[in-house]
Amino acid sequence: MQEQDIQALSEKCAKLETQIARQHDTVSISTHQLRTSLSAFKWIFKMLLDGDTGPLTPEQQKLIEKSMQSNERMIVLVSDMLNSLHVEDLSLTYKKESVDLVALIDEVLFDFSSESFKRGVELLFLKPSPLPLLHTDKDKLRIVIQNLVENAIKYSNTGDKVFITITEENHSLILSVKDSGIGISQEDQGKIFSKFFRATNAQTKEQLGTGLGLSITKTIVEGLGGSISFKSTLSEGTTFVVTLPL
Ligand code: ADP
Repeated sequence: MQEQDIQALSEKCAKLETQIARQHDTVSISTHQLRTSLSAFKWIFKMLLDGDTGPLTPEQQKLIEKSMQSNERMIVLVSDMLNSLHVEDLSLTYKKESVDLVALIDEVLFDFSSESFKRGVELLFLKPSPLPLLHTDKDKLRIVIQNLVENAIKYSNTGDKVFITITEENHSLILSVKDSGIGISQEDQGKIFSKFFRATNAQTKEQLGTGLGLSITKTIVEGLGGSISFKSTLSEGTTFVVTLPL
C-alpha cells in the first residue's frame, strides 16, 4: 500500500471515529432524557394511585396500575442501556480517583434501603477496620456494587438477609455480596455473565430484568483491573466476590 493510501485511510478512520463518538453522545443524551421522563411518569402514576387528585374508579385504578408496571419495565431497560453506554464509552478511559469503598457502599445501600425494606430483605454491611483508598473509577465501581446488591435483593426471599463484606488481602480489596436466595443451578452457572441471559428461576421470581447487569459488571471489573467470581447453590443462595487491586 502506498503512503498516500495509508494517510487517506487513517483520515477516513479518524472521521468515522468522530461520527461514532457523536452518535454515541446523542444516544446517551436521549436515553438520559427518556429515563427522566419515565421517572416523572412514575411519580404521576403514584400520585393518581394514592388518590392525591381525588378518588379513582376501580377501572381507572386497574388501568393506571398496568401503565405503572409497563413504565417500571421501561425504566429497568433504559437504566441498563445507560449503563451499557457508560461501559462502552468510546474513550474507554477509566478515571483514577481516590475512592473510599466503605463510603461508596454506604451510599449504594442507602439508595436501596426502601426497595429492600419493601421486599422484607435486610442489608447487613459488616464494616471493616479502616482500609486504604482505592485509585479507581468511582462511577463505574458504583455500577458494579449497584448491580450486585440489586440482584441480591431481587433474588432473595422475604425475611432473608444479605451480607456485604470487604477484606484486604494481597494488595487487593475483596468485596463480597452474599445472599441466601434462589441460587443458580449448576447448568446455568456458565451462562450468567452472557448478555441477555436470565435463568428460569430468576424469571419466575422477578419479572423485571434484562440479563445485562452481570455482563456490564464483569466488563467494568475487568476494566478496573480486577476480577469477579461467584459460588452458588440452587435454592440456598449465591455469593459474588469482586477483587480490586489497590
Ligand atoms: P437480570 O437480573 O436483569 O436478569 P443480570 O445480568 O444481573 O440480569 O443477571 C443475569 C442472571 O444471573 C439473572 O437473570 C439470574 O438468573 C442470575 N443471577 C444473578 N445474580 C443472582 C443472584 N444473586 N441470585 C440468583 N441468581 C442470580
